[in-house]
Amino acid sequence: MYTKTFDSQSIDTTRQWTTKAQKIVLLSHMNADGDACGSILGFTLLLEQAAPQAHSVVPILPNGCPKYFHWLPASERILSGETDREQCERLIGEADLIVSVDLNTPSRVDFLQDALVNAQGHKLLIDHHHNPDTDHFDIIFSDPLISSTCELVLWLSDALWGRKYMNTDVARCLYTGLRTDTGGFAFSCSQPNCFEAAAQLVSYDIQPAEIHNRIINTFTVNRMMFYGFALSQRLEIYPSRRVALFAFSLEDQQRYNVSGEDMEGLVNYTLMMQDIEVGALLREEQGRTKVSLRAKYEVNVNHIAQQLGGGGHTKAAGATSLKPLTETLTEVKQLLGIDGQEPLKTATTA
Ligand code: 5GP
Ligand code: MN
Repeated sequence: MYTKTFDSQSIDTTRQWTTKAQKIVLLSHMNADGDACGSILGFTLLLEQAAPQAHSVVPILPNGCPKYFHWLPASERILSGETDREQCERLIGEADLIVSVDLNTPSRVDFLQDALVNAQGHKLLIDHHHNPDTDHFDIIFSDPLISSTCELVLWLSDALWGRKYMNTDVARCLYTGLRTDTGGFAFSCSQPNCFEAAAQLVSYDIQPAEIHNRIINTFTVNRMMFYGFALSQRLEIYPSRRVALFAFSLEDQQRYNVSGEDMEGLVNYTLMMQDIEVGALLREEQGRTKVSLRAKYEVNVNHIAQQLGGGGHTKAAGATSLKPLTETLTEVKQLLGIDGQEPLKTATTA
């Protein structure tokens, strides 16, 4: 069981909103990961049952559902802001209830931020990042100590509706976020409630081995070849500061025909080296650079990401810089204390 208690007034109000809302929109962040996809879809499926009066319950992701999560129940219903921007903005503007999941600030929905901030509907936030933005949400259920937004959705739905609406599809969605955000129950899940959540979800007749295969064993040939290139040609190791990083230009990505979603998880390879404490991955996008940061023990990468205008968790954080790749790389190197240093000579660079 979840040992913390939700504020009863917030629970009552949320329940009232869900039983009255006619138009419901759910939102999560750009470049949705397993937790974003799992929590938005899990809560969509729960709300559809809890809010039968609603004419529409629409999950929206700024750049859609990544193709490797298309097996998730109801994923075909996710609207992409990139593909249907006007429709998404209209739906957000017209909604009387907007549920944001797995984000702590409206800027995480990227170009849909204005639509979210200006919307008049009730705004609910369910999240596990630090420092939720209290100015733009009416009710916030946030716990930075919990493994994943999916876990929080499970406990929150218990508080709202008991197990009335839980079923296999919801459990599949929520288990996915729990599984991905904890790296397969390896990190950020030292609390018993994370394992209890997993046990309870598995009891809804889901197959952890099948979900594992769908999450992990899904590489395209291009993606696999790109990982080979990344590890042999783009990995920079700075042993004196226990740092390793990757930096990818647009050209690198075009060469292997890969995009941001193909790089999900690649930054974790830096930490697989025994003496590395901090890992970074920089990826050039059109007009901006995406930064991913990871740490093992001591370093708080959330603080580093904040200095780049981003945020996240203590051991996994990120930022989106409007500067070009080379400038962002210099900034990251300064923050990590490796500017001006030569990376380790490896077999391929020697
Ligand atoms: P990833 O490195 O997997 O993209 O993101 C890891 C974590 O960093 C995410 O869960 C999120 O909390 C945070 N994060 C990633 N990118 C951004 C960003 O552009 N802005 C902010 N505020 N946080 C980010
Ligand atoms: Mn998450």
